Amino acid sequence: MAAETHGGRAKCLQRLARLDLPVPRTVALSFKAVHDIAAGDSTDGTRLLTHFDAQPLLCVRPSSEDPDWGGPRAVMNIGMNDVKLAELTGKIGAQAAARMYLRFVQSYAIHVARLDPDDLDNVSDDPISGLEEALEVYEEEAEEPFPQDPGVQLIEVLRSMARAWEGTTARLLRQAKGAPADAGLGLVVQEMAIGLGKGECGSGVMQLVHSKSGVRQITGRYLSQSQGRDALSGGVNALYLEQDPRGPSLEDLAPEAFANLKAHTALMREKLREEMQAEFTIQDGEVYLLDGVRVARNARAAVSIAVALAEDGIIAREEALMRIEPRALNEMLHQQVDPEAPRDVVAKGIAASPGAATGKIVFTSAAAQASAARDEACILVRRETSPEDIRGMHAAVAVLTERGGMTSHAAVIGRGIGLPCVVGASSIRFQTRRRQMTAPDGRVFREGDIITVDGTNGEVSTGETRLLDAGHDDSLRVLMEWADEVRDIEVRANADTPADAKVARQFKAQGIGLCRTEHMFFDVDRLTVMREMIFADSSQDRAAALDRLLPMQRADFTELFRIMHGQPVCIRLLDPPLHEFLPTERSGHRELAEALDLPLSDVTRRVEALGEYNPMLGMRGVRLGITVPEIYDMQSRAIFEAMIEVSKEGDPIVPEIMIPLVSARREVELVKARIDAVAAAVRNETGQDFTYRLGVMVETPRAALRAGDIAPLVSFLSFGTNDLTQMTYGLSRDDAGRFMSEYVRQGVFPEDPFHSLDTDGVGELLKIGVERSRAAQGDLVLSICGEHGGNPESIAFCREAGFDYVSCSPFRVPVARLAAAQLAVRDKIG
Ligand code: PEP
Ligand code: MG
Repeated sequence: MAAETHGGRAKCLQRLARLDLPVPRTVALSFKAVHDIAAGDSTDGTRLLTHFDAQPLLCVRPSSEDPDWGGPRAVMNIGMNDVKLAELTGKIGAQAAARMYLRFVQSYAIHVARLDPDDLDNVSDDPISGLEEALEVYEEEAEEPFPQDPGVQLIEVLRSMARAWEGTTARLLRQAKGAPADAGLGLVVQEMAIGLGKGECGSGVMQLVHSKSGVRQITGRYLSQSQGRDALSGGVNALYLEQDPRGPSLEDLAPEAFANLKAHTALMREKLREEMQAEFTIQDGEVYLLDGVRVARNARAAVSIAVALAEDGIIAREEALMRIEPRALNEMLHQQVDPEAPRDVVAKGIAASPGAATGKIVFTSAAAQASAARDEACILVRRETSPEDIRGMHAAVAVLTERGGMTSHAAVIGRGIGLPCVVGASSIRFQTRRRQMTAPDGRVFREGDIITVDGTNGEVSTGETRLLDAGHDDSLRVLMEWADEVRDIEVRANADTPADAKVARQFKAQGIGLCRTEHMFFDVDRLTVMREMIFADSSQDRAAALDRLLPMQRADFTELFRIMHGQPVCIRLLDPPLHEFLPTERSGHRELAEALDLPLSDVTRRVEALGEYNPMLGMRGVRLGITVPEIYDMQSRAIFEAMIEVSKEGDPIVPEIMIPLVSARREVELVKARIDAVAAAVRNETGQDFTYRLGVMVETPRAALRAGDIAPLVSFLSFGTNDLTQMTYGLSRDDAGRFMSEYVRQGVFPEDPFHSLDTDGVGELLKIGVERSRAAQGDLVLSICGEHGGNPESIAFCREAGFDYVSCSPFRVPVARLAAAQLAVRDKIG
């Protein structure tokens, strides 16, 4: 018998029976048999009954290949009829016997005879008169008496369950859960251990771990018939009465049964190599196991369970690694909305950075900072964020934007700093100047109103919502260590600030793969100096401003190098167009005019002159480095000086300097010559010898195509797939959110290419880049530092293409480490 022919439940019950566990007699019908029954095959119910004792009570349960695909609801007490009623009345009393018969008549009437549930629900509460009424309703509505022949009852139950499985709605529902269109259903017919008798009797479920914490403790329910109690629930070592935790536990009521049950559940765990929940009945103090199902679990419990199974030698470490869905780790790294909590969702957007938070709405970064200063949690709501909003983002507990996609500013920064973020929520009307927003249903939210942003599911809801705490624990640490042992591609983090770098180290990133230096210039005190530099008329003035920026940059790099303890740190020279550092509003122009002691008109004119029609394709990246070379000179000097200072403390450092947005070899030659000159000058001044590694970001299609030209000049290439995707598709990173969901819905793109690497198009450019650069220079280090670096499918592509490492937002590092380990294990298994 196999799960592929009879379903998972049948297979499991067979294994339990083979382990000599006390499973009541069971007959499993294969997918084919059930399909034939649905098609009208005249299976003989009476013949099936010969497998059981005389006049048994039976239950039928579904057994699909994967339990998650669902199936028709189980039917119990088949075999109840007038004769059985009389027999059971003698054994368990008239009330209890009538209740069993009544429940069967109701479920048969609704699920088999398809009568109106309302008619059957309205019968009297007293089981004896209720049964009488139900039998009458049945006869009236079905126009025949309730069937008394157990063989007929059984075959009709089987047929109705088989047909329910083949119905269109059921098929669509299970297909949505990944079932193939022709998925089969097996049915399990089992003699019931009814849990009624003179000694301790009852029924329940037991498992040996907690489903939410993964802590090893007996958890479950037990319904004791003898005690007349309705429900019992989990305690640490026993099953206690729920209403009375100090009352008798199952252990007190039936010590032997309890001990056996524990032993059976532990044996299931060992032999089925899975944490199982036992469904049981106790009859006169004897345990019967009706079923074993995989313990339901959240991500945290899944990790604890897998690690414990491997530590107990029940499964191999590799198998433990394979059992965890890498993305599920997000659940453990961030606070989440409790899926069972009620919530009032007002709008949906793109789930850009996982986690959830509740706070008061603020519409400006300044308000966010003020709110944080008052210790009030706030949600920063913007049309879109820009580098100026960094401080506001740090002050907020979550971000919500109208525009943007997976690689827009808010999304990238949000993921980087572990801030829940929903972007592209364009169904909301954002009126940020009026400090309000209007939900699609017309509700208006003003500054100070409380909302919850769920960045895991892309939902915005009103008010507070119950949140579940993040919970990384020892098991996760152990699992990650195992992942690192088998993984064969390195994982670094994209980290711009000391805080990012600390998170990167905490998550065991193997260095920083991308430090975006522009974020260092947005601190208020630096921004003014930066603006002075931008407005400088002469190279002397510019040099003076850069001289003031130099020690600040040096301090930034010193701190990063110190935190990273000699691990590689790859610093990208300034990338964004200069006007991003200038104020956009008139009030900002006025303040700048004051700070620089210039006429307002001058400032406005200069700001306008720096504006570009298409800034992302304009004066940015290496183009800036070539036209205003003093900026890169200052940055390289700051890097070298910081490196010398920190190297003295013990950890030798070889910094990596990366040039953004390259498209031609000559650009690299020019920048390289200047950085070499700065290095020579610093060597001269300090008397210290040192090396550095120079690299290029492959972000333009041309750089990928001409990688063979560029490679001999550098030590590494890092593929910036955010810009590369933007340029390959001709698709704006910041505006694509507006139509992306429609594009995905209509199947134009299988997925958002900013989220999951387009392996066909952008991927082809990557492969060309790899092939041509490695042909020109065999020992070149290759990596990816676009957001795709944290996406499990994209990591598979990069590993296949021969990359040395991937670099992603710090909070995605654990996901990337596990995803990479699974790829290596999969290869090993073959
Ligand atoms: C990229 O373009 O992929 C990249 C990493 O750089 P940024 O996102 O800063 O443009
Ligand atoms: Mg880029």
